[in-house]
Amino acid sequence: MIAKRRPLCSVVAWAFIAAAALGTLPEAALGWSSGHAAITQGAVAALPSWEREWLGEEGSRLASEYCYIPDLVYSKPEIRPYAMLPSRPKNFYLVELHLPPDAPQGYELLRHFLGQAVEKLRAGDVADGSRFLGTLVHTLEDWGCPAHSVPGDNMFTLMRQFVPPPEGSDYRYVPMHGPMESAQFTVDLGSYQPRLLGSSVDEAAFHLLGRVQEAIVFARSQVIPIMQALYADDQPAATAAQQKAGVFVGRVVADALHTALSLARQQFDDDAVRPLREVDLSSRMPLEATNLAWPQSAFFSKPYWGHPTVGVVLKDGKKPTAIRMQIPDCEWARGPINDAIAVGTPTTLTYLIPPGVYDRLEVWAGLHAELGLAGDVIFEIRGNDGKVLVQKKIEGKEPAQLLVVPLAEEERIQLVTRPASRDASANYAIWARPRLLKSSD
Ligand SMILES: [Zn+2]
Repeated sequence: MIAKRRPLCSVVAWAFIAAAALGTLPEAALGWSSGHAAITQGAVAALPSWEREWLGEEGSRLASEYCYIPDLVYSKPEIRPYAMLPSRPKNFYLVELHLPPDAPQGYELLRHFLGQAVEKLRAGDVADGSRFLGTLVHTLEDWGCPAHSVPGDNMFTLMRQFVPPPEGSDYRYVPMHGPMESAQFTVDLGSYQPRLLGSSVDEAAFHLLGRVQEAIVFARSQVIPIMQALYADDQPAATAAQQKAGVFVGRVVADALHTALSLARQQFDDDAVRPLREVDLSSRMPLEATNLAWPQSAFFSKPYWGHPTVGVVLKDGKKPTAIRMQIPDCEWARGPINDAIAVGTPTTLTYLIPPGVYDRLEVWAGLHAELGLAGDVIFEIRGNDGKVLVQKKIEGKEPAQLLVVPLAEEERIQLVTRPASRDASANYAIWARPRLLKSSD
């Protein structure tokens, strides 16, 4: 839940916990507040038994109490240190712990609270470690909540213009944030096995950001179903849609808890670490896709009006077409290439990279094997502060080229295309198999 200025949701959440403890929970007091407990409980239940045993009683408190910490900072000053940033010592209510901030800020928040939890757990302080985990899971749960997923429209006044309430409906006037997250549901992750997201805090925060971005996008798909269910007074349908989002983000929370405990123990399964050796950058959201969607300012104009697409190229801007490239003697390049980004000229794609985690970036650059034969493109990879790390001019008749740049301390990587001549009408440019790779030794 989110409170701004007035600690309304804190009071509601605290009343909820107190009532729950006394067994006197009134139906009317339930909100996404109960969702936090349900999601955290579901995630804790999915952890391996040794992790649940390690958390012990604190694991129960995590799911009933600590997962509310960021909502309770007004009424309980003693818990504020668990939900604050050292860089903002005067700010004890951080709205970013409730509403998704931009990706760099999101990464820093996840890194901080995950790091604090790991440090405390590693030192044997399970109680404090669990409190920091409480802030971490609250943040993930709020970001992945449908009621928090429409940028800049937390009370759904804009969404109600797109999806108007029926004549006579109370929702013409009642702010919709509360009702959108008010369902009572349980979260059962079934046989879900939580994933290890990194063998260092920086790496884990980077992957956790990617996972929670998937949850935010999923939460958005539930917004209109919930609104329509509320208009129709169909509470079971509203509950079902909220529960779907709860289960989705519950898996992310389980990953976060499993990763924190693995990092604290500093023991990693070979099978869990192996997939972390490389990252498919085409599956990540570039920073230009603000709010995880493409703004019109990031559209390119040649050879068609559109935005970068993964797995297909838009022929003439209209027809999704398989990606093919000329790469002689290459097995994977024989069929359509799915892990590739199709762009035009000019474009810039910026990716956040955790510094010091990866050894290098490898990517194939070239033009589409059929559509781009008459094209002529300058491909450029840039690092911190726009510094050019590599530049190649490639013509459509030439084969694609493998570009490799060392990542060292890069915190940003940009994949840039520019037209190499005046005629950009065949500049169907492709970044294929962009990979962040760890050193192989
Ligand atoms: Zn909240």
